Amino acid sequence: MAANHAKNGKAWVNLNNDQLKTVDEFNRGYLEFLNRVKTERETVKFIEETALSQGFKPLEQIETIEPGTRILISMKNKVAALFIAGKRPLSDGFNLVASHLDTPRIDLKANPLYEADGLALFKTHYYGGIKKYQWVAIPLALCGVVYKKDGRAININIGLDEGDPVLTIADLLPHLAKEQMEKKMAEVITGEKLTPIVGSRPGAEEENPVREAVIQYFRDKYDIDEEDFTSAELQLVPAIPAGETGLDRSMVGGYGQDDRVSVYASLQAALAIENPETVALCLFVDKEEIGSTGNTGLQSLLLENLVVSLMHLDGPVDYFAVRKCLANSFALSADVNAAIDPNYPEVFEKDNCSFLGNGVVLTKYTGSRGKAESNDANPEFLWRMRKLFDDHGVVWQTGELGKVDIGGGGTVAQYIARYGMEVVDCGVAVLSMHSPFEVVSKADVYMSYKAYRAFMQVF
Ligand code: MN
Ligand code: MN
Repeated sequence: MAANHAKNGKAWVNLNNDQLKTVDEFNRGYLEFLNRVKTERETVKFIEETALSQGFKPLEQIETIEPGTRILISMKNKVAALFIAGKRPLSDGFNLVASHLDTPRIDLKANPLYEADGLALFKTHYYGGIKKYQWVAIPLALCGVVYKKDGRAININIGLDEGDPVLTIADLLPHLAKEQMEKKMAEVITGEKLTPIVGSRPGAEEENPVREAVIQYFRDKYDIDEEDFTSAELQLVPAIPAGETGLDRSMVGGYGQDDRVSVYASLQAALAIENPETVALCLFVDKEEIGSTGNTGLQSLLLENLVVSLMHLDGPVDYFAVRKCLANSFALSADVNAAIDPNYPEVFEKDNCSFLGNGVVLTKYTGSRGKAESNDANPEFLWRMRKLFDDHGVVWQTGELGKVDIGGGGTVAQYIARYGMEVVDCGVAVLSMHSPFEVVSKADVYMSYKAYRAFMQVF
């Protein structure tokens, strides 16, 4: 295979009319999914409902594992996994596809509400790597959950349904922005200025009447008191619908595609797996965007705990068997890479970076400053992936996260690698990554599905 740009759009060119229809159909489902789920919790719920409707049983209802047994595992409403038993026992290892269901966004602080100059606003702390200027002057939705002191959970979802109000962070008008425009981009909008306007109509109170009116609104509409915000998880996400993009409708544009594109494609792949030789495991984790930390991120022992609880179904688990199972396994870290943007050729090296429409991206290493923090996949594994993809009609390309020393980043691959299993990054190329409107190619989305499916079914 020559350089990635030897044939641009190669994921499209060999598709016949039937296959083009299949690609469109697949992406229609993907678009509905993008417009339906905006938070980790909503994504986990979607996975649970979909899996249960298609023959998966919750782990708690499983007594023994037989070849073909389909198990749904979920943890803390933020992590989900689909397990499909193979003809070989779990102790021989598994083929894992792992994606992350968290996305960059703006979270509310614990004491969010304040009033200034006749406006009620929320204080926030952003989550993940965002270019803050992209999040002002756009409609925002408020999603998440509030736990009341008595333990009741109140779900909030405002701004996504037709007729809903939206929130927005105001930006300075150009007429008065002479000084602002001269600032460095990173300093134009500071984190503490990411304060959406929540209301402007005063209530009857003397002091902070607008703020008090907003508190009353939450009390009336949701039975939430101001103190309840201290045990809440509320996020602001773009209230912009995902949709077909480009006059040729060849792309999907929308928020949260890093990494819900991999979530959707690998979920559909897992649902399609039947009686694999080796155990197939499809894992959806949280917290990747902030370093895979916390008890729902892959730096925790969640994968190990999950494997132990599955092995335990076959009797007492011995330590060596668990270690051996993990070390004998293979994994795709299903995550996106940066697509070459023709406006910014200075950050991409065209022989090695990925292009929109050139197929699923196999990324040997990520990292920065000499591959630091990267899982650098072994060639013994890479040749097998090349062969698998070529044998199963998966159009693929290589990827690298930008030119050497221009920046960089990481994925969950490094945390999977610690068990000794072979792992490589594999996902679609994205334009405008981490922005309120990310763009991917429909053909690539479909190729990623084919890649995950082939890997879990026959690798
Ligand atoms: Mn990602
Ligand atoms: Mn990301």
